[in-house]
Amino acid sequence: MQTHDYAAASGKQDDVAMNSIAIESALIAELGADLVTRSADIDPRYFTAYNEAPGVRPLALVRPRSIDDVSRTLALCRRLRQPIVPQGGLTGLARGGVALGGEVVLSMERFAGIESLDAAAATVTVRAGTPLQIVQEAADAAGFTFGVDLGARGTCQIGGTIATNAGGTRAIRYGVMREQVLGLEAVLADGTVLSSMNRMLKNNAGYDLKQLFIGSEGTLGIVTRAVLRLRPKLGAPATAMCLVADYDTVLRLWDRMRAVEEVVSFEAMWPSFYRYVCSHTPGVAAPFAGADGFAVLIECATSTPGGDAAQALEACLGDCLEAGIIDDAALATSERQARDMWMLREGLAIDELPHLVNFDVSLPTGELGAFAERCEAALRARWPDIVCLFFGHIGDGNVHIGVSLAELDEALVDELDRTVYAVVQEMDGSISAEHGIGVLKRPYLACTRSDAEIGLMRVLKTALDPQRILNPGKVL
Ligand SMILES: Cc1cc2nc3c(=O)[nH]c(=O)nc-3n(C[C@H](O)[C@H](O)[C@H](O)COP(=O)(O)OP(=O)(O)OC[C@H]3O[C@@H](n4cnc5c(N)ncnc54)[C@H](O)[C@@H]3O)c2cc1C
Repeated sequence: MQTHDYAAASGKQDDVAMNSIAIESALIAELGADLVTRSADIDPRYFTAYNEAPGVRPLALVRPRSIDDVSRTLALCRRLRQPIVPQGGLTGLARGGVALGGEVVLSMERFAGIESLDAAAATVTVRAGTPLQIVQEAADAAGFTFGVDLGARGTCQIGGTIATNAGGTRAIRYGVMREQVLGLEAVLADGTVLSSMNRMLKNNAGYDLKQLFIGSEGTLGIVTRAVLRLRPKLGAPATAMCLVADYDTVLRLWDRMRAVEEVVSFEAMWPSFYRYVCSHTPGVAAPFAGADGFAVLIECATSTPGGDAAQALEACLGDCLEAGIIDDAALATSERQARDMWMLREGLAIDELPHLVNFDVSLPTGELGAFAERCEAALRARWPDIVCLFFGHIGDGNVHIGVSLAELDEALVDELDRTVYAVVQEMDGSISAEHGIGVLKRPYLACTRSDAEIGLMRVLKTALDPQRILNPGKVL
C-alpha cells in the first residue's frame, strides 16, 4: 500500500484549504449543491486508488448528470485555471483517476446508462459512467457479445476503459477497446462539446478525432458518450488448462491454437507463478498442481450456429498431445472448474505478497520468453532473494510481472522500475501494455517513446488544453 500527499509534501496545505473554499463556492454557484460535494464531505473512496490507502482529498467533487453539467464544469475550471481529474470506477492500475493535490475530481458515476442499441448496425450507444458489465449484459440480452472483458467489469466504466484503452482477455479475438469504439463524444478543456458519434464502420472524412481521447487517460478531454461495436453472440465457452515444458513450446502451442477460429483467450503462467497461485488460492482445485512447467489457459467460444467450441478445443488439444507439444491437459467439465482455472490465472493470490510491485509490459509474443529470462536475471543480480512472477495475455504479447521484496521504499521502487524498464527498452517493447501511464509510469515514458513522439504528444496537449487543467501530472 502506498500513500502520497503531494500537497503536504510541498507545504501547500493552507493554500489548498483556502482554494478549496473558493472553488467549492464557485462550483456550487455554477452547478448547484446537488452536483457538488464540499471537500470535507467527500467519501474517501473518491480519493483512493485501486488497492491503495486513501490519498489526497480533492478540493471538491463534481458528479454531473448531463453533458451540459460536464461542459459548464470545465468552462468554469478553465476560467479559474482550476485543475480537474476525470474519474471513472477507479479500478485503473496507474493511479490516473485520483487527485495529486489541489484538483477538483469529476466523477462520471451519475452519467450512466445505455441510450440505444441498433441491432441492424450492431452498435450500442452508452454514457461514459456505465459499468462495463452493464454493456456486456445489454449486448447479451439483444443477442450480441461485447468484445472487451476484464476482471474489473462490475466496477470499471466505459469512459475509464476508453480513456485507458483497456485490453482484457478477448483481445486476440476482438482487439482492445480502441477497436470497439466507432463514435465518441468528449468535452474539451474549455467546455466545448465535441460530438463525433459516428455509427458506421467506415468513415474516412478527415482526421479520426475520437482516437485522441482513446488511451489519453483524461488528459485531452472528458469522454461523455460512445458508440460501441457489438459482435455476434458467443456460445458457452470451453476452457482448458495445459501443461507445457518451456516457453518455446508455449509458442508451438499458440501456433496451433491461433488457427482455431474459436479461440478467445490464450493466457500463460510461468512455472513459479503457477506454483505460487496453486498453493495460495484456497478452495480451488488446480490441475497438475505439483508439476513443473508452464500452465496455459485456453478459452474457445463459437458464434457459429450449431458450432461446438468444446469439440474444436478438444480436437486441437488431442493433436497437440500426440505431437508432444503439451505434457498434460485438463478440460473444464463445469462452470465451476472453468472459474477456478480463471481464478488461478487472474492471480489475485499474489496481492498478498509483501510490498508487491506490478508491471504490465508488452513485446512481440515470440520474444516474451527471452524477456522474462533477461528481466529475472537483471532483478536477481541486484536482489538475489526477490520474488518475481510472470503471467499474462501471451497471445497479444502482454506479460504482467509481480515483484516482491522483503523491504521496500520509494527509492527501491524506482530502482525496480528502472531495472525492468531497461530490459523492456533494450528489447524495444512497451512499458505499458494495457494499464496506461498515469502517475506511476510517467517518469519512464521515454523508455518506450521517442523524443519526437513525446514532442508531438506535448503539442497535442498544448493545443487542446493550453492551461493544463485536465488531469495534470498524468502521462506527460
Ligand atoms: C481486477 C482488475 C482487473 C483488470 N484487468 C484488466 C485487463 O485485463 N486489461 C486492462 O486493460 N485493464 C485491466 N484493469 C485495469 C483497467 O485499466 C481498468 O479496470 C479500467 O480500464 C479503468 O476503468 P475505470 O472506470 O475504473 O477508470 P479509472 O480508474 O477511474 O480511471 C482511469 C483513467 O481514465 C481516466 N478517465 C476515467 N473516466 C474518464 C472519462 N469519462 N473521460 C476521460 N478520462 C477518464 C482517469 O482520469 C484515469 O486517468 C484491471 C483492473 C482491475 C482492478
